[in-house]
Amino acid sequence: MILQTAVLSALLCSVHTFTLQTSFEKNEENLGNTIEDDDFSISTLLEKANANVGKNFDDPLVLFGDIAVPTGLQNADPCTARGCLWPKATDGNVYVPYRISNQYSRRERNEIIQGLRSFAPSTCIRFTPLNGQSDFVDIQSRSGCFSFVGRRGRAQVVSLSRQGCVFRQIIQHELLHALGFNHEQTRSDRDQNVRILLENVIPGMEFNFRKIDTRNLGTPYDYNSVMHYGRFAFSRNRQPTIIPIPNANVTIGRATQMSATDILRVNRLYRCNTTAAMRAPKPVQRNQVFY
Ligand SMILES: [Zn+2]
Repeated sequence: MILQTAVLSALLCSVHTFTLQTSFEKNEENLGNTIEDDDFSISTLLEKANANVGKNFDDPLVLFGDIAVPTGLQNADPCTARGCLWPKATDGNVYVPYRISNQYSRRERNEIIQGLRSFAPSTCIRFTPLNGQSDFVDIQSRSGCFSFVGRRGRAQVVSLSRQGCVFRQIIQHELLHALGFNHEQTRSDRDQNVRILLENVIPGMEFNFRKIDTRNLGTPYDYNSVMHYGRFAFSRNRQPTIIPIPNANVTIGRATQMSATDILRVNRLYRCNTTAAMRAPKPVQRNQVFY
């Protein structure tokens, strides 16, 4: 009986994953804004994958959808106390050591490595295999997709569940959290760019829409950021929870990879001396450490 249950849940998981992949393909050229079209928005993927987060004893308390917060430190973000950037090496690169759990299949592992490597061509971030460093990103398949914001010290879990998180945009999204970024719709200037409809939000999930006093690094609000949730995020009634303003029909939260602004922000936060940073339209605002 136990074996049967195990087989059944394995089957259910693979059906679930298959459904997600089909939605990806189906929606690639479909930019509609109905809830059905939103099946592959970042937030929909995260919500599906995170349905069971917190049920495991060793999971961190998860707030803001997929941002992990250590229990007991909810009121004092470690970033504000000691800075949470990853250190810069003398060659100008920022080396972020990583370890990938052996839970993954070869295909999944390759997908994760591709995601890690995707930062190198356009930023100074270099995710490199762990080699004795004390602070590193510990990539594991836990019950959902989540990450801490910024460097926390020692091994910090970035959870990429095999059931629903091993996709390019989710991998980049969680790594951007680990580099220090929050969700786009929590930005300090979000009220000029989106309207939040709390009346449509699942009761108890309103905290996902709290505004954060972010430093925005002189970059514009970006609906196409891989950090932006979709318009039906945490909806209790199939009605939108995030509406772009002034044009309500603009597509939001559908990024399949980091946007140019996501890349620019990484370059500004870490003061990368890359072509992308050089080409930046606005002057870099120094001393603005994010968060
Ligand atoms: Zn997130």
